[in-house]
Amino acid sequence: LMHLTKKLIGIRTLLLSIDQSDALKLPSIVVIGSQSSGKSSVLEALVGHEFLPKGSNMVTRRPIELTLINTPPGANGQVVEYGEFPSLGLGKITDFSQIQKTLTDLNLAVPASEAVSDEPIDLRIYSPNVPDLTLIDLPGYVQIASMDQPETLKEKISALCEKYIREPNIVLAVCAADVDLANSPALRASRKVDPLGLRTLGVVTKMDLVPPEQGATILSGNRYPLHLGYVGVVCKPSGKSGRRETLDVAARRGDEYFRDNREHFHSSSALMVGTDTLRKRLMEVLESSMASSLHGITNAVQLELEEAQYQFKVQYNDRRISPESYVAETIDALKGRFKEFTVQFRKPAVRAKLKNMLDERVMDVLEQLYWSDKRIGEFTGLGEDKRLKPEDVEPYWKYKLEAASSLLTKSGVGRDATLLVADGLRTLMDNIAAGEPFNFHPRASERLVQFAHMILRDRIPLTSDQVENCIKPYKYEVEVDEREWENGRTEAVKLFERELNMCEEKLKDIRKKVGGSRRLNNLMGYVRSIEEKERERQKRRVAQAAAGEEIDDAVSEESYKYTPGQLVDARYAALYTDRLDILKLRLAALRSKRCKAGPESDMLCPEAFLNVVADKLAYTSSMFINIELLDQFFYQFPREIDSRLLYDLDRTEIVEFARENPEIRRHLDLQERKDKLEEVMKRLNSLSVLRADTQPTPRRP
Ligand code: GDP
Repeated sequence: LMHLTKKLIGIRTLLLSIDQSDALKLPSIVVIGSQSSGKSSVLEALVGHEFLPKGSNMVTRRPIELTLINTPPGANGQVVEYGEFPSLGLGKITDFSQIQKTLTDLNLAVPASEAVSDEPIDLRIYSPNVPDLTLIDLPGYVQIASMDQPETLKEKISALCEKYIREPNIVLAVCAADVDLANSPALRASRKVDPLGLRTLGVVTKMDLVPPEQGATILSGNRYPLHLGYVGVVCKPSGKSGRRETLDVAARRGDEYFRDNREHFHSSSALMVGTDTLRKRLMEVLESSMASSLHGITNAVQLELEEAQYQFKVQYNDRRISPESYVAETIDALKGRFKEFTVQFRKPAVRAKLKNMLDERVMDVLEQLYWSDKRIGEFTGLGEDKRLKPEDVEPYWKYKLEAASSLLTKSGVGRDATLLVADGLRTLMDNIAAGEPFNFHPRASERLVQFAHMILRDRIPLTSDQVENCIKPYKYEVEVDEREWENGRTEAVKLFERELNMCEEKLKDIRKKVGGSRRLNNLMGYVRSIEEKERERQKRRVAQAAAGEEIDDAVSEESYKYTPGQLVDARYAALYTDRLDILKLRLAALRSKRCKAGPESDMLCPEAFLNVVADKLAYTSSMFINIELLDQFFYQFPREIDSRLLYDLDRTEIVEFARENPEIRRHLDLQERKDKLEEVMKRLNSLSVLRADTQPTPRRP
């Protein structure tokens, strides 16, 4: 049966890690007693070491789940004793004063305002000198709260103890012999939950402080009978020499005391005295209590296990995962998505994007240099003059074309093209980092963005310089061949058609908004007339000022027939109409024989020429951006993922990462619960094989 307790303690620990609910609890011994009743002394006597926090201030503020594990002595009889705090990860602690210090720190960490906490401290002690036992040490009952303790302290401690002394636990009620048992808070509390005293064991401490005959009377338990009885102990340490010795000496002194008073304690064989007896009694009591819980707990575990297995099947189709596999899958998916996206950055795509940007710039240049030129009418007329040869065209238009070309080539294409592509990459990475599953992993997501941006920051200055360098020749001269010209011309036609459509769409919208074309025409007429009037007024003022006359600033009376919003619409409509006129004219020019003739008409068809320039710029830029930025980024990024995102994680970080994803966390939790329950069930089953012969199997007639 010895093995049974050990195994059951193992099962109990495992169950505690699955579930804190009472349903799955194997019994433990709960130690209660008032402050200074000698509770710590008893526990330390059982362990054989001083390890509990000491101090005048209330030192036990959290329950201590104390698991004692009897280990075989080491080779050549060496005694290896150590403690462990599994949840702290401090490893084996062989110095018991270190355990004491850790316990003190953990207790003092409970804020004074709370005074007690019901979060247990898990402590395991391994030694050949301890029995297999589980004990829960609770804060001692206080009689009178001192000034600096909260009013509610008494109730708080009582509530905490009450929670632990529930079934199926065994209550170890510690009472001092020199205090009337009627006043023992431990016995009073136990009587509330265990009125018949079926699962309460009394420990009477400080037996040396009362006359032996009085002590023997207490132990006989006639006044407050307990089914499990009373054990009397003397375990006052002298507190002078080394610790281990002190407790041994104390134990010996305790034994001596009972031996010296043999006639009172040993004559009547029913009395239990001494720490050794207490130790044995505790083992017996725990063992039989655990054994009787075995059937119930097996059923409960079976039910829980079936439920967990069912859920695992239904929810996850029995698919097992691990934090490592999740990390690997996440990385693969990340790289996969990344690769998918790189398609958007192939050379033709980038070139098209850059061309778009430059097309817009061409439009701006045209607007700035040509469309706002007062001689535009004359210029357009030139194109229709069939006899005119290029060399006949005025130098004015020649310079204009050169200015337009250099406005385009010197507009910072290197920087802007690089930034455009880099922005695309940045948006892409930001999207990946914000999407599943990285929305669950804020830190990984942040790192992803961080090193994507870092690579880009590194490459942008280099790339833009390189691109700017490579387009330098175009700043001086652009040679255009027939094929390029024709291509530029058709592209320009397309561009103008698009622009034209856009203007028409906008006009249509405005027309709809103001209520038809007649209304719009009226509006525009009105706007134009007041603009005209304004111009005249301006002229008059200038003339008056020049002549030294008094300025006549009277504004002609106008009835405000239209709302300000309508006037704004009308102004836009006027703008679009003007633009449409020009676009139509230039479109006709682009389609004319003269323009089709070839590059020698460049001065008269600046749109076609600039389009060729834009195309050359886009081509060259995209080539160097590809080498300097994209290739580097696509090479470096996956390597950064490997080296900096996840592969340098240790096991705990991997688990932490995986558990950030709620779906994965649920999956892992259920899987772990199922695994642990299976393990518990396996262990329970092996026990029932052990016990099979002791349990008669009912037979059917
Ligand atoms: P706790 O507050 O209930 O944990 O009690 P302690 O174990 O700290 O003991 C309180 C005081 O009683 C200490 O000064 C101990 O030395 C003393 N004490 C404990 N056990 C005995 C004993 O068996 N005999 C005597 N005379 N004193 C004891």
